[in-house]
Parts: sequence; C-alpha cells; structure tokens
Amino acid sequence: MPVTSSGRQEQRVRDMEYEVIICFEVHAELGTKTKLFCGCRNDPAAPPNANICPVCTGQPGALPVLNRRAVEYCVRAGLALNCDINAGSRFARKNYFYPDLPKGYQISQYERPFCENGWLEIEGDDGRPYPVGIRRIHLEEDAGKLVHGAGSFETADFSLVDFNRASVPLIEIVGDHTRNPLRSVREARAFLEKMQQILRYIGVSDCSMEKGQLRCDVNVSIRPPGEPGFGNRSEIKNMASFRFVTEALEHEIERQAGLLRSGRPVVQETRLFDEERRITLPMRSKEDAPDYRYFPDPDLVEIQLDRETVEAVGRAMPELPDQRVSRLVRDLDIPREEAAVLTRDRAVSDFFDRCTPLCEDATRLSRWIIKDLFRLLNQAGLDMPGCPIGPEPFSRLVNLVAGGEVTEQAARSVLDDMFRTGKPPDVLVEEKGLRSIRDEKTLARMVDEVLAEHPGVAAEIRGGRVEPINFLVGMVMKKSSGRADAARVRELLKERL
Ligand code: ZN
Ligand code: MN
Repeated sequence: MPVTSSGRQEQRVRDMEYEVIICFEVHAELGTKTKLFCGCRNDPAAPPNANICPVCTGQPGALPVLNRRAVEYCVRAGLALNCDINAGSRFARKNYFYPDLPKGYQISQYERPFCENGWLEIEGDDGRPYPVGIRRIHLEEDAGKLVHGAGSFETADFSLVDFNRASVPLIEIVGDHTRNPLRSVREARAFLEKMQQILRYIGVSDCSMEKGQLRCDVNVSIRPPGEPGFGNRSEIKNMASFRFVTEALEHEIERQAGLLRSGRPVVQETRLFDEERRITLPMRSKEDAPDYRYFPDPDLVEIQLDRETVEAVGRAMPELPDQRVSRLVRDLDIPREEAAVLTRDRAVSDFFDRCTPLCEDATRLSRWIIKDLFRLLNQAGLDMPGCPIGPEPFSRLVNLVAGGEVTEQAARSVLDDMFRTGKPPDVLVEEKGLRSIRDEKTLARMVDEVLAEHPGVAAEIRGGRVEPINFLVGMVMKKSSGRADAARVRELLKERL
C-alpha cells in the first residue's frame, strides 16, 4: 500500500481497498391533521401539552382508534417507493421504558408491516440508474419530547416533558442490505435527498430535518471487494442534517478501514455522531441492545386493506419527480439538467406547469425561472410558495421578451419591480417607458448621432478594425436606455460603415 499524502488520495485508496455497504432507517413524521390513535391535533407549533388526551398520554383504560388517513399516507409512500402492499397487516407493541413514552411501549409494526420489498432509483456512482432496495415501510407512533431544564443536559436538575408529539404518526422506511445497498457516501446522500423529495411531492410529510420531521439512522459496514459475506456493521443514530449524515459516514468508514488495516475487528455496535468533534462515538454494543419483546397489540384489530382502497390511493398519486423530468424533456424539449432543477421542488415544478400553457416559449420560460426568478427569491430569502409573482404575470413578461417587445435587459428590471411592487408587467413597461424601440427611423437617428459623436471610432472601423463596433452598439444601447434591439442596431451600424 503506497503511503498517501492527501486525504483525497487516501479516500481513493480506501475505496479500492474495501467495499462499503450502507443502509438507512428513515423516520418521517406524517402531516395528518390528527394523531395516530386519538383525535388530538397534530400541530408541531402548539404550546407544550396543548394537544394531549388520555389516549396519547397512556392513561389506564384508554383505547386507541386508528387514523385512516395515516394508513393511506403509509400506503401512498409504499406505492411511491415501489413496495408490495400487504393485504393483512397489524400493529405490535414495542416495549421499552423512557420518560417520554407514557405507556411503556410504542405502538409500531413488527411481523406484518403495510409495505414491503420496494426500491428507490437513484443515479449510481457509475452514472447508471440504480434501484436501491427498501425492505419495508411500517406505520408507528412517535414519542413525546423531553425539555431539559436550565443548563446543559448533564447539569440541569430537572426535565420537563411535552406530550404534543406523543402518538404523532411516523412511517419508518427500512433499507435492505441484501438488495442493492448504497455503496458510497455520495449514493447515500443522493438516496436521502431523493427520499425527502418524493415524500414531499406526495404530500405525506414536510420532511424538515431541522424540525425533526425526517430523522435518520444509518448502518454501515465494509468488506474486501468481492467478499460474499458482510462485515460487522455499526449503526449511527439520529442525525439532524444531511451534512452530519455525510460527515458521520465518512468518519465511520475511515474508522472501520483503519481497524481492519491494522488487523483489529469491527465491533457490531450503535454509535452516536458527536456534532462538535465531527466523529462517531460508541453508544451501546450488540450485547446491550434492548430486547423490545414485541407482541401484537390486543387493543387494535388486524387491518385488512382491500384492493380497491389500495388502487384508489394509487390513482390519486401525484406525478412523481422522475416522471416530471421525463415529461419536460420529452414534451417541451427542456434539457435534462434544467428539468431536474425545475422539478427539484414541487412548488417550483407546479409553477412551471402553470406557466407553460400561457407561454409561447418553454425553453425561455425555464431559463427565466432558473436564472432570474431564483435570483430574486434567493435575495429575498423566500421559497416558491412565498413568491409574490403569480404564473400569469410571469408568463406575460416572458412573452413580452419572446415577442421582442422588451429587451432582456429591460425585462430584468421589470421583473425586479414586479417582485417588489406586485404590479403587472405591462403597467411597469409603460410607466418606465421600457417598450423596445423598433421604429426604424428612431433607431437610425440614434445610430447617426452615435457615429457623429465618435468620429474617431468610426474611422478606425472604416480603416479595417472590426471590434470597436461593439463599443458603438453599446453607446446606442445606452442612448436608448437599453430599449433598442441590439441586433438591428448592429446591422444599421454596419450599413453605415
Ligand atoms: Zn390524544
Ligand atoms: Mn421506529
């Protein structure tokens, strides 16, 4: 093994030295109106313990009633992630003690989850489509939240518990290390981003990692290339951002490779990512892993999902991101990279779709969204739902440019004003006198004026130099406040020179 100097080189050496196998368990909080087993509102913004009742606080004798919408959302996620939907399914109790878990168990699914055997296609490291295996998706309830008293977790002498989140519906999406597992940190990141995108598209979860609506645990193991068996894996729990996932995986792969290189074993264990030090630390070994003593919940009947229900969920499925990309490329001739940018976020994609029937030129529309509208949104710190310009006025502006009625430069300043004032484009064009000058006489007069003002430059061009003509075009544009048609101005100058 050659000694390497840079981290990048070391990375490459390690990539050849070991195969990486990564598997996720993703929890996503569902955006239902009410909780999973009671009528309490599912509202993350409510004050502490505003939305609680005997069921979600685990009072003796209180009985759970299943939220039908949560089941539909779980099935919707299952269909979007290409899963088989089980006809018969049931809930189980996962027993453990924690102060935020008032019943002493979590209602989850064990033997028969709603969804199994799915996949999610990403672009693999080889540039080819790679369907990553998903073992199962099950429905379960969230726990409450502990709020630790003043000071740090270690020094505070009290903690408070907020049960608003207790029994909020979650789906848990579990990867499959035997069926196309993720093979690199890059693939892991692509998988997570796409998972988040799809769950948002189908409207089951907002998936904000900052708000804890999307939480991921990740398993990682390495093995010499071509080896059939799996190495011992470590599981890293509860990472709060995609960046932390990436950093934790990088650190963990390097740590395991270091152990194997020096002939030491990797211990199967659960680890935590230390966000300050950017390293993973042991939390518990396989031997201390809790035994949850799962058993079927006797308070909840077995659920029979009939074919019609599942088919109805399938029919109501919105168009998924990959389908949208294909449609934009196929029907509107949008370049694939641009189509991917336009569809990354559903609100942007919907905006584009509402503009296309109003626009004569979809390619131009796409560029104006990606370049100019995104710039304004970024500057204002807004995302698409907060955009002050609707599809109609935006399309109208793009059409004004396409029809040559305003120049690109003028349209850009009109767009800025539309964004600020909410006025329609035609009004602004008139107010600011920005309609393009297409009148030949006016253009000719301005060209003649510029030639008269710069006789030296004109002489140079007549003497055989070509490039100073750009200067003269610029002077005419300036004279016209950006409203002259630059191509026509150039023609007129050439005629005279
Ligand atoms: Zn409740
Ligand atoms: Mn879970």
